Amino acid sequence: MIERQGDINKSNLQICSRCIYDERVNGIEFDEDGVCNYCKQVDDLKEQFGTGQEKGKKALEDIISEIKKDGKGKKYDCMVGVSGGTDSSYMLYWAVQKGLRPLAVHYDNTWNSAIATENIRKVTSALNIDLFTLVVDNKESDDIFKSFFKASVAEIEASTDLALAETLYRAASKYKVKYVLEGHSFVTEGITPVGRNYFDGKYIKSIHKKYGSLPMKTYPLMTFWRFLYWTVFKRIKKIRPYWYMDYSKSEAKEFLSKEFNWEYYGGHHLENRMTAFFHSYYLPNKFNTDMRNNTLSAEVRMGLKTRSEAWEEYNSEPHMEEELLEYFRKRLKLSETEFDEIMSRPPRSWNEFPTYKKRFERLRPLFKVLAHSNLVPMSFYLKYCFPAKVD
Ligand SMILES: [Zn+2]
Repeated sequence: MIERQGDINKSNLQICSRCIYDERVNGIEFDEDGVCNYCKQVDDLKEQFGTGQEKGKKALEDIISEIKKDGKGKKYDCMVGVSGGTDSSYMLYWAVQKGLRPLAVHYDNTWNSAIATENIRKVTSALNIDLFTLVVDNKESDDIFKSFFKASVAEIEASTDLALAETLYRAASKYKVKYVLEGHSFVTEGITPVGRNYFDGKYIKSIHKKYGSLPMKTYPLMTFWRFLYWTVFKRIKKIRPYWYMDYSKSEAKEFLSKEFNWEYYGGHHLENRMTAFFHSYYLPNKFNTDMRNNTLSAEVRMGLKTRSEAWEEYNSEPHMEEELLEYFRKRLKLSETEFDEIMSRPPRSWNEFPTYKKRFERLRPLFKVLAHSNLVPMSFYLKYCFPAKVD
């Protein structure tokens, strides 16, 4: 269980002087002023993308015209991955407002909260946007989730993240569209350190092969070659508009509720029950990790919270719905005893299993070129193509 300490000035941990990342964060380094390398990464990206400045605005306008030009005569000109959460819902609105014609794409891992499903419906129907959903066989996706749980690795959500990426590529390819818009903002979220959220196709396959029991049939697995096919051969670009612009999550939230009767689900990424279990229970209780420090640190960097306010919130118990654990056990057919037994097994790390990580590192020059052409996200290059320090 994570050690919780309320007062930032009384902590015996080294904490970044600008955000609230502390010495327990993977790969963290502090400079002579006590500022962490992740704060510097945010500064560098702001500079590089011209976030909120004339440079960024201009770059984004060029991208928008390129998307429009390429999309002439096609039913859609871009894809937007949706979850029912704030960032992706607002992304749909933003795209329409800019005169783009997005197709909303959703990967349904069958653990959605009713609020998320309703949110997707409300926003897409009000904006008159078509929705492409890939629903995986729920027994199969549960078997993959269960295999990650049994393996005692942290990345229990890896299969969802990778499947959404593959689903977006499939939809883009089907409609001959070259652009995928992603509602990620390094300003409001930071670039999550690679420590406990690694994912790739080989990792999913190797964990599932060892600990799963059903064949993988409907799950959209993205292998290395498929990844190269989509990026190098099909040249489908990943664009993150929020990286270029001033984006305020709280304003987006307020706007969405007012405009679309969209509903907030009570916490970052908690629109899905597996996500909620991962963030509010699994990581803090088994891996001594609480990813709220990513958003909280970002809020401190943006001046929305003070360091002590953020630290206090980080050190409070995460909010969790009471029925969540029972729901998890029931869906994965685990008795209370089995659940407790697996929870108490020692944690293992992704680097103990076969992954593509070494291959990504070897191909770093290729991915650098791809990242600069927006064919893979810059965060993929920064996180996956360099050796990771993992404890
Ligand atoms: Zn920092």
